[in-house]
Amino acid sequence: MPKLRAAAVSFLNAHPLTVGLEGSDRIELVPAEPSRCAAMLEDGEVDLALVSVAALTKGEYEIVPGIAIGADGPVQTVVLAGEQSPAIWDEVFLDTASRTSHVLAKLVLDAMGVHPKFTPMHADEGLARAKGTKGALVIGDRAFGVRANHVLDLGREWTHLTGLPMIFALWAARPGRVSPEDVQELTRAAQHGLGVRTELAQRFAAQKGGDPERFRRYLTQRIRYGLGPHELDGLEAFLGRAAEKGFLPPMKLRFVDDVVRTTRTRRLVSLDTALQKGADGERLDADEAELLDEKAPLLELGLAADARRRALHPDGAVTYIVSRNVNYTNVCTTACHFCAFYRPRGHKEAYVLDRDELTRKIDETVALGGIEILLQGGLHPDLGVEWYEDLFRWVKARWPAINLHALSPEEIWHIARTSELPLDDTIARLIAAGLDSIPGGGAEILDDEVRRRIAPLKCSSDEWLSVMRAAHLKGLRSTATMMFGVGEEPRHRVAHLVRLRELQDETRGFTAFICWPFQSANTRLTASDTSAQAYLRVNAVSRLVLDNVPNLQASWVTMGGGVAQASLHMGCNDFGSVMIEENVVSAAGTTFQMDAEEVERHIRDAGFRPARRNMRYERVGDAAA
Ligand code: SF4
Repeated sequence: MPKLRAAAVSFLNAHPLTVGLEGSDRIELVPAEPSRCAAMLEDGEVDLALVSVAALTKGEYEIVPGIAIGADGPVQTVVLAGEQSPAIWDEVFLDTASRTSHVLAKLVLDAMGVHPKFTPMHADEGLARAKGTKGALVIGDRAFGVRANHVLDLGREWTHLTGLPMIFALWAARPGRVSPEDVQELTRAAQHGLGVRTELAQRFAAQKGGDPERFRRYLTQRIRYGLGPHELDGLEAFLGRAAEKGFLPPMKLRFVDDVVRTTRTRRLVSLDTALQKGADGERLDADEAELLDEKAPLLELGLAADARRRALHPDGAVTYIVSRNVNYTNVCTTACHFCAFYRPRGHKEAYVLDRDELTRKIDETVALGGIEILLQGGLHPDLGVEWYEDLFRWVKARWPAINLHALSPEEIWHIARTSELPLDDTIARLIAAGLDSIPGGGAEILDDEVRRRIAPLKCSSDEWLSVMRAAHLKGLRSTATMMFGVGEEPRHRVAHLVRLRELQDETRGFTAFICWPFQSANTRLTASDTSAQAYLRVNAVSRLVLDNVPNLQASWVTMGGGVAQASLHMGCNDFGSVMIEENVVSAAGTTFQMDAEEVERHIRDAGFRPARRNMRYERVGDAAA
């Protein structure tokens, strides 16, 4: 297959988009003078070109989505310079390197009420003549060295004028020439280039002279390489204003592969930047989180997550709780495709635990030093709020010190529906009866596209979150969970994390996050990637995205002790609970068991100090063994 020919200028700000194309199998880079790029595209000498946005008006071009060269504020390389203030200029010499910058200069001066004559001229000559009432537009790397009494940075002026970013250049293609695979190649190249901006700055300084640090700051802090919704607003505002003033003909934006304006186009971000932001505790947006989920090497992801873990938990302790998981019934009407635990009502294996059995389990837990009962079950159609109130009052009367960590949002939602009660009233009654905190189960993936496929009868993502919100606002604390590996995509996992983070911003009610991979044995659903590597990746990304959730639990129950130990070096700071009993994942084939001594040995062997905690992560005495 012949390679596509792509023309690009050699300006420093273009290097991050082009360096990754050197040696590409799909795209041949054709270096060109700025003034030639658009002409080569127009004449069909190349299939696509990195052109100034004004060149889009020259043909029916298709824009490569997601990638651009722009600025949101000062840009440094598009400036008006002169001896006197622009307010008195009667002539401006226009550097011939970029038509977009000509239009931008005209728009900015027009907004200032200045209407000089514009004369195209080579930048060096224009600058030399920018005296008295004359000014000059200087574009590109030459602008770095401009010294003049009056220098107007046109990136800054545009953002000041509109509140929007300015897009200077983008990849434009002749119609039908660029395929989605080519877009991927351009995106891959850009991601590579963004990751090596420091090296590009050093190389440029070595070749052309100048301060490498200044060039690095320019590439990393001044120039923006994404073309997301905000940048598209800036682009449309520019083209709209230019058309209104008659500086450019009106035009409609077209994208490769019918990527239209309404489609969310992922902002272009660099792995290095996203990893560094995550490690520093800066908030990652969904684009950055998706990039990390998809592309970050496991080791680097783990290091960034470990930096966050160390910043949040610098004392070298890894906590755990002694708790018992009691599944009070396996009767459920929801029939989730991934569940091997539930039985229909009337099934010979269906059960509801009686008080004798519960007494035995709770007494045993207390004897082992347990301080909490994690009480969860199926959605039994006959159990209304009174049944739970009786149960909770009975537990609290007999074991007043035990923390009743009970009922996932799905169960609370079900109880409210079965009892025909408002959600708030249901939660209030359960709290009055003894409910202390809520487990974050049943979240699976908080994206209805996934939920409808794997658990069509389960409550929606909004409903799950609304139960958590209501519970948090009533003072309850809860955990949050994610079950991955059900065929979801990175965007679904990221949406899940972002939704949890948003609720946490609102309520501060989540004490911890726990994720685990789907266990597929005895279920109707096929697992996607549930390997140890996938688990460690999801954990690490979660640590970086959930910047407001203090604790991350390792899931040794599903992954085993060794992988859980590794996760302590990749974001987790808690080893969950000793496992006296668990029925849900064991029904799906997972059977790891550990007592307190084993938990502590694993924590120590991983290089940490074990410490016991309660549900609110308050220490309740250091290691027992
Ligand atoms: S996962 Fe929960 S709600 Fe779904 S079928 Fe199993 S017990 Fe029922």
